[in-house]
Amino acid sequence: MYRTHTCGELTIKNCNSEVILCGWVARTRDLGGMTFVDLRDRYGITQLVFNIDINPDLCTQARKLGREFVIQATGKVTERSNKNPNMLTGDIEIIVDNLHVLNTSDVPPFTIEDETDGGEELRMKYRYLDLRRPIMLNRILVRAQMIKAVREYLDANNFIEIETPNLIKSTPEGARDFLVPSRLQKGMFYALPQSPQILKQLLMVAGMDRYYQIVKCFRDEDFRGDRQPEFSQIDCEMSFVRQEDVWHMFEGMVKYVFKKVKNIELPDFIRLPYLDAMKYYGTDKPDLRFDCKITELNDAGKGSSFTVFENVIQSNGLIAGINAKGCSEYSRKQIDELTEFVKAPHRGAGGLIYVRFAKDGTIKSSVDKLFTQEQLTQIGKLFYAETGDLLLIVADKINKTRKVLGDLRLEIARRQGWIDKNAWGIFWVVDMPLFEADEETGTPVFAHHPFCSPHADDLQYMDTDPLKVRAQSYDLVMNGNEILSGSIRVHNKQLQEKIFSILGFSEEEKEKRFGFMVNAFKYGAPPHGGCAFGLDRWVMLMTGGETIRDAIAFPKNNSGRDLMMDAPAEVDNEQLKMVGIRLSE
Ligand code: ASP
Repeated sequence: MYRTHTCGELTIKNCNSEVILCGWVARTRDLGGMTFVDLRDRYGITQLVFNIDINPDLCTQARKLGREFVIQATGKVTERSNKNPNMLTGDIEIIVDNLHVLNTSDVPPFTIEDETDGGEELRMKYRYLDLRRPIMLNRILVRAQMIKAVREYLDANNFIEIETPNLIKSTPEGARDFLVPSRLQKGMFYALPQSPQILKQLLMVAGMDRYYQIVKCFRDEDFRGDRQPEFSQIDCEMSFVRQEDVWHMFEGMVKYVFKKVKNIELPDFIRLPYLDAMKYYGTDKPDLRFDCKITELNDAGKGSSFTVFENVIQSNGLIAGINAKGCSEYSRKQIDELTEFVKAPHRGAGGLIYVRFAKDGTIKSSVDKLFTQEQLTQIGKLFYAETGDLLLIVADKINKTRKVLGDLRLEIARRQGWIDKNAWGIFWVVDMPLFEADEETGTPVFAHHPFCSPHADDLQYMDTDPLKVRAQSYDLVMNGNEILSGSIRVHNKQLQEKIFSILGFSEEEKEKRFGFMVNAFKYGAPPHGGCAFGLDRWVMLMTGGETIRDAIAFPKNNSGRDLMMDAPAEVDNEQLKMVGIRLSE
């Protein structure tokens, strides 16, 4: 028998029993005649003791153990005189009478502890060592618990887990496809799924009624923000449902997972219309763990002699701001930092106007010369400003003003410590748009994917003003992150074809890319809808990770590289030739 117990289970109840433990040497300490070894495995840490007076040879052997050696220790469980209440096994130690080195280890390139000295890239290169750190192990365990709870809930609600293929034809989600060349049909390519969207819809046509899958998706995107080229979704689809049914089902699932994994009872989720999210928070995934809404000022700005405001109003822009409560005494330097923040290239605001409602009762602003005290007081009223507040105002194109203020609101919350780390801000964003204008050409492109059903009330605008059409689509936002998106789908062949046309697909393209799907809709497609959760991001939030990489066992770095395997890598010419690819010189 390799071991009788794990390193996480022995307590005072086991005193005097003879045990065998296996694990990794986390730490050794020599205290005069005694040598202590912390032995670690997945389940915890147990202290081993070697006494030079009792067994000098064994003690010498123990002193030679290096960090991360794999050992087997036999000995007697004994009550500790110096107990450690922070450890599950802190009441006992093992007086070792036999020691076996099962494997040695080179000195690890960073310390295998929660507070490690290894930078992220190094930890990713040696991910198998990184995963030995309790903080990382815990994330992997929570991830598994969450998946288990998800399966329990969905199984109990009659969902069937069905695998869909990875070598397929493109399913568009707005990113580029990863392509796989076919060896047997040279010049032909499979696409890896950006999501199983079309396949799960076809499963509804097949009558499966309720489907789910915990599935890898692949999106070849430029590395903006916290993304991974391959990531996991909890992908779900239901037949004969309206939006309400989908919301009810998956709100229930989120609550179930929170209860099971964190023992937290979540309140019901509010539903925030997309347009309100944009207007009041400047983003479709606001962090609602703190208040602070955007206030629009175009009316108040009318008739001022301030040319910036005049120009913005005339060019249909937006003047708006936020009330940074309690920040009136921000220094010149702090205000300058905030100005730099809004002017950063990816935000691109021209500048930041402030109005201080100072503690001494005065109102001072960066545009004093252009506004009377009376006007500033009036503006303050719109923000419900009180003594001690600081108004921060931006005037620019609508989208830019909103985005900048959405970011600024978060920045102030961070600086002021407004975000309660133990709070959960979870809610639905509903009535998302069906199309959005392409940034360059202004023509409609799909906002989510081309299979979302339009809102019945907005069908009238499909031909005349498609950008005004709301979709029956929704997101679930958690602490400022989108963790789910979904929609009721189009199940009518004509409507689906019409949407493809608005998106500018030619008849030939429609047939080539989606012919099989539209064809399936001829054979009794039921009304259906669903959603997909971004599992990695959800795990990240549940485990206090900072990036989704923290929630993935073997992630890629920010430039899409697997640092451990060193992928992507070159392949030899023979292999390329076999799949019909010739690299040009
Ligand atoms: N396929 C969608 C996505 O990946 C989710 C859905 O609409 O169900 O975002």
